[in-house]
Amino acid sequence: MLETQTQELKGDPNLVDLKRIADTLLTATTEAISSNQSMRNQLESVEKDTSELKNQVKQLQDQASRDSLTGLYNRTALSQQLDSMIERGASEDAPLSLLMVDIDHFKRFNDNFGHLIGDEVIRRVSMALQQGVRDVDVAARFGGEEFTVVLPGTSLDEAMEVAQKLHEAISKLVLVRRSTKEKLPGITVSMGASCLHPGDSRESLIERADQALYHAKENGRNRIVSETKTLVH
Ligand code: GH3
Ligand code: MG
Ligand code: MG
Repeated sequence: MLETQTQELKGDPNLVDLKRIADTLLTATTEAISSNQSMRNQLESVEKDTSELKNQVKQLQDQASRDSLTGLYNRTALSQQLDSMIERGASEDAPLSLLMVDIDHFKRFNDNFGHLIGDEVIRRVSMALQQGVRDVDVAARFGGEEFTVVLPGTSLDEAMEVAQKLHEAISKLVLVRRSTKEKLPGITVSMGASCLHPGDSRESLIERADQALYHAKENGRNRIVSETKTLVH
């Protein structure tokens, strides 16, 4: 665009030509600055949109990994996290333990007080589990009134202590029915604990905790059973 003016300047421009050339150059420069600014504005706006989109994707990802009733990790997220924790535990030769937690006679809460109260019981137990573990631990809703807690870097003995603490916290929960001010019966849970063995998969680790949980139920509920009580040596 500026070629004509360059050619004209190489000739022998008079004052009038010079003024015209200068005007043209000034207009061109002003236009370039303004188009530059507008491109910069557009770029800023695209950057803003991109960062908003990234936040939304992050929020959606987080939502997709959470259980809607309790806010705990859901089964899918548990599977993913457990797989990577097992891999890390195995490669670093670090211990890893897992607790399966099931509310005792939960059906009675539903039957005697209704589903909404049942939901509240599930929520309160979830909160106690979440609050009773470290940030590095994973508390998940396995399904219905059953939960899983994964404890990285934790031996079976230590996991039994954590389980005891969680069991106690849950047994201390007090639920009051708002309409009648009636105190609901105490909540108890049964738990099964397992720890990572060489060659373990997510399924085998969960299966042993589940068997231990089954023993806890069979032996009267409201108790914690370790896999060592159920494994045949
Ligand atoms: P156990 O001591 O042997 O574990 O007995 P339980 O009554 O706790 O277990 P059972 O499997 O017989 O009953 C679980 C009930 O939980 C059945 C199901 O309707 C109810 N349930 C599952 N998910 C939810 C939920 O999200 N909200 C409510 N309110 N109830 C649920
Ligand atoms: Mg139950
Ligand atoms: Mg159950």
